[in-house]
Amino acid sequence: MNAPLTGQPALAFDIDAIRAQFPILSEQVRGGRLAYLDNAATTQKPESVLAAIDDYYRHKNSNVHRAVHDLAERATTAYEGARDRIAQWFKVAREEIVFTRGTTEAINLVAYSFLRPRLQAGDEVLLTGMEHHSNIVPWQLVAKEKGAKIVAAPVLDDGSLDLEGWTALLNERTKFIAVVHVSNSLGTVNPVEQMIAAAKARGIPVLVDGAQSVAHIAIDFPALGADFYTCSAHKAYGPTGFGCLVAKRAILDAMPPWHGGGDMIRTVSFEESTWNEAPYRFEAGTPDMAGAVGFAAALDWIASVGLDAIAAHEHALLLEGTALLAAVPGLRMIGTAKNKGGILAFVMDGGHAQDIGTILDQYGVAVRTGHHCTMPLMARFGVPATVRASLAAYNNREDLEQLAKALHKASRLLA
Ligand code: PLP
Repeated sequence: MNAPLTGQPALAFDIDAIRAQFPILSEQVRGGRLAYLDNAATTQKPESVLAAIDDYYRHKNSNVHRAVHDLAERATTAYEGARDRIAQWFKVAREEIVFTRGTTEAINLVAYSFLRPRLQAGDEVLLTGMEHHSNIVPWQLVAKEKGAKIVAAPVLDDGSLDLEGWTALLNERTKFIAVVHVSNSLGTVNPVEQMIAAAKARGIPVLVDGAQSVAHIAIDFPALGADFYTCSAHKAYGPTGFGCLVAKRAILDAMPPWHGGGDMIRTVSFEESTWNEAPYRFEAGTPDMAGAVGFAAALDWIASVGLDAIAAHEHALLLEGTALLAAVPGLRMIGTAKNKGGILAFVMDGGHAQDIGTILDQYGVAVRTGHHCTMPLMARFGVPATVRASLAAYNNREDLEQLAKALHKASRLLA
């Protein structure tokens, strides 16, 4: 990805040493070598993350916050220590990290706890035409209930956002803005800094969906200036079912709870309950302690390699992959924006994406096919589905060559 990154020194990028840390990459699939190119859906996990989760269950597992015994203390220390690590990653205070099941839950939290009480009939929520369903449907549910409207900014033919069109949609009815940082279907990196500045000038709160940026672009949350940032651990070498909402403390403090249960309360009686402080107010019930530990370990792993180095590696692969795919007869790329992350999405003459995915699988190439939870975007490009190869730190030239070779075979079969 060619966005400016952390300023961390780029270590010598030893791709073989990196691949060796991911045991699943040596799995045989369909009797041969695996080329795992479905990283936008979920990434694989390095040994250090697997070990951290294993260590948690072997040596620390108990319930958090509520007991005085030794194991409960270990569990709480591990869980809250993970919050410290994650907060440090985003350059925020620990109280500004709310643990969730992932991006989807984090967006729903903001929709229900932050926006719902503020939204009125006639108000507008401004999105873009390239949002994931997770960044459409929660707003739609709340807007429907309140008689408010969802407005989506246009996407240009190359898959970049029509920034002028987006700006023209800002008006006095716009009560909230949500935007995907990096499109999971196109790879487009949106100009979120510019968008946030325009929103701030009008006093409009902004949520950035970071599902596809967290493992590729360094996030300095205070410098970014957004009100909310959401992400999922599993897209950043961490475990599934875990993620977080990053939000300014003053905003979280003013937000009501949205899930009721243990741990989110201060006092409970049958007449009335009072709420714990943020972020605990938003974390009802027994949390995913191993998930938190695994996410912190995943961020440690990224830091050990260097986000700059990973981004540079992925960008080089993106250029190489784009050139290899351009030579496949009948293949058309969907998403060619200048500022683009490691996504190669395409359609091919004579075959549905599903058929192409099935052929690629026969050659050990794991890609995603379908609408990628972006049905409005597929409609914009006039296709029902695309084939999507998506990159991560451990991908290498061989993966791309395996993909290209299989695509040439598919192209011959479909001709
Ligand atoms: N937003 C984007 C851009 C995504 O790519 C995804 C997942 O693919 C999500 C949101 C939802 O993430 P999760 O399913 O981890 O909650």
